[in-house]
Order: sequence, then structure tokens, then C-alpha cells
Amino acid sequence: MQNTVIDQRVQLFIETCRRHHLKITPQRVAIYRVLIQSKQHPTADRVFRAVKKEFPNISFDTVNRTLLTFAGIGVVDVVETFGGPKRFDPDITDHHHLHCMACGRIIDFAYEGYARLEVPKTIASTFKVISRRVVLKGLCDACSPKQ
Ligand SMILES: [Zn+2]
Ligand SMILES: [Zn+2]
Repeated sequence: MQNTVIDQRVQLFIETCRRHHLKITPQRVAIYRVLIQSKQHPTADRVFRAVKKEFPNISFDTVNRTLLTFAGIGVVDVVETFGGPKRFDPDITDHHHLHCMACGRIIDFAYEGYARLEVPKTIASTFKVISRRVVLKGLCDACSPKQ
């Protein structure tokens, strides 16, 4: 990701924090930066280990709580997982996931067709759909047996 793109996203993040009266600290900005530069949908532990390089005294608990706070104000998403620790996604726009059942990789993809995914009438009358995410479970390229 280009530096200007990162800076723009950090700027938006700071504005959102301000709107929610959340104090902007260098640690919080560092945590957000780690998130937006990771394509891995990282766990709190992974974020913790990356942020620790910059802030050696930061605790796992602080990082974990910060991530949950971010999720609470909508700057990150908590990603669906099938067991295992929570994973965080800094991309809050509509997109879909490939979930490798062997190595746990979560790969983003976009597909126009899913945006028009029909909601069954029985659901539409009792449930207001706000966003759609399709999760395809399977094996990634590295994990599927070669022919
Ligand atoms: Zn895999
Ligand atoms: Zn994602």
C-alpha cells in the first residue's frame, strides 16, 4: 500500500475516533497502522507482536482491548472465524472472503454478482439486511494437493 493511501486512511481513522470521543494516542495509531498494512486479517496476538516492536512496554491486553474498541466504533470488522481467536479486518467496505480450512488464511475478494445476492422473502420481512458477505471455505493454493 502506498504511503499516501495509508496516511489518508489514518486521517479518516483519526476523524472517526474524534467523532466517538476516543482519545488519539500514538499507540492507537500504531495499532491501526499495523492493521491496515496487513492483508492477513490478523489476530490480536499478531497485532500485539508487531506493535511491540515500536512500543516495547505495551501489553497484550491493551492491544486486545483497543482492537475491540475499534470494532465498537466501526473502524475495523471482527471477521467470522470457525473456532480459534478473533481475527480483525481493517477493510470495512463490502467484500468477500476465501477461508482456507488448512492454514487459516483469509483472502479478500470482490465479486459484483454477490452484491445483488437475493435475500429470501421470509428473511427480508423480519430482518433488515445491511451488508452481505459471502465466505467460501476450502483450500488455498498453497494447501491444495498438486496434481
Ligand atoms: Zn491454506
Ligand atoms: Zn477481509
